[in-house]
Amino acid sequence: MARIYKDNDADLSVIRDKVVAVLGYGIQGRAWALNMRDSGVKVIVGVRPGKSFDLARQEGFEVYSVSDAVKKADIIAVLLPDMVQPSVWESEIAPNLRRGMTVVFAHGFNIRFGLIKPPSDVDVVLIAPKAPGKAVRDEFTRGWGVPALVAVHQDFTGSALRTALAIAKANGFTRVGVIETTFAEETETDLIGEQNVLVGGLLQLLRYGFEVMVELGYQPEVAYFEAINEAKLIMDLIWERGLTGMLLGVSETARYGGLTVGPYVINEDVKRRMREAAERVRSGEFAKEWVAEYQRGAPRLRELLEQVRESQVEKVGEFLRQLMRSR
Ligand code: NDP
Ligand code: MG
Repeated sequence: MARIYKDNDADLSVIRDKVVAVLGYGIQGRAWALNMRDSGVKVIVGVRPGKSFDLARQEGFEVYSVSDAVKKADIIAVLLPDMVQPSVWESEIAPNLRRGMTVVFAHGFNIRFGLIKPPSDVDVVLIAPKAPGKAVRDEFTRGWGVPALVAVHQDFTGSALRTALAIAKANGFTRVGVIETTFAEETETDLIGEQNVLVGGLLQLLRYGFEVMVELGYQPEVAYFEAINEAKLIMDLIWERGLTGMLLGVSETARYGGLTVGPYVINEDVKRRMREAAERVRSGEFAKEWVAEYQRGAPRLRELLEQVRESQVEKVGEFLRQLMRSR
């Protein structure tokens, strides 16, 4: 069984006298900064001049450049976009790190793939919320939290995990549960999951499901409801009641057809490809490809996104969502 830390396993007093610099005031950064301040932690923000900078100041934080925030802090939470982190690390973070500081990441990508190499005299930990930033803040204000993962990459002080758990507690994560993991496991499962299932697999499944019906001559509007819109209802059932609960919540015909035809459509060959994709993540091949693409200005990403945006299924979806919203 996984090791899970709860509120009782974490001690906020570990960071009571520390200054925590939240670097980046975006989706995660803003949520963390607000949560930790509400928990009584001394939080400052480090970000470049611009929209985030102004918002953080407006919301009452002391805001500095990334360099200055690192200079003033004992603990830094690196909540900059993953692809931006390596260059900001080189120019603004690394030169200002001091012995015994704690560096917190919310995703292990740059450590796992060696794009950031911290000095050996700091603690390096991971606290990865398993939810979007909006939920990180909303759940906290409701007196609850979202689950998270915790990992220690480097324990210079001997108290890296205690510090990490205190940060997790200040964000409400230990109210739900914080699962112990490693940087490699968090990073690899995150990428494999989003490619094979959440973003990649699901998107393609929905598109093919829609296209097959349209190609057989059914009306696109009807196909959209059957292949895409109802997927939400099925996911809700799975989320609430598990796989069996979902199966018991649909008709007997759907249950029999689904259980017999599903494995024929999504067959062993698909599973083999999933494993191939996972291997490309584990070998670092995917990370290398994505970093190179990003450095080129992400032309392929933009083109692929445009193709989705322009596809028939999107036009139909837009029309139907409009229809369902209007009264
Ligand atoms: P965002 O893109 O929402 O926010 C990035 C922040 O960094 C913005 O405030 C942005 O400011 C600032 N920034 C960008 N470039 C620079 C720069 N060169 N110098 C200084 N500041 C800069 O990022 P996320 O919150 O999505 O991601 C942060 C981390 O959290 C990542 O490691 C991500 O993997 C992780 N994470 C994110 C989740 C999510 O739900 N989004 C979920 C779990 C983990 P500006 O307004 O000026 O652009
Ligand atoms: Mg992800």
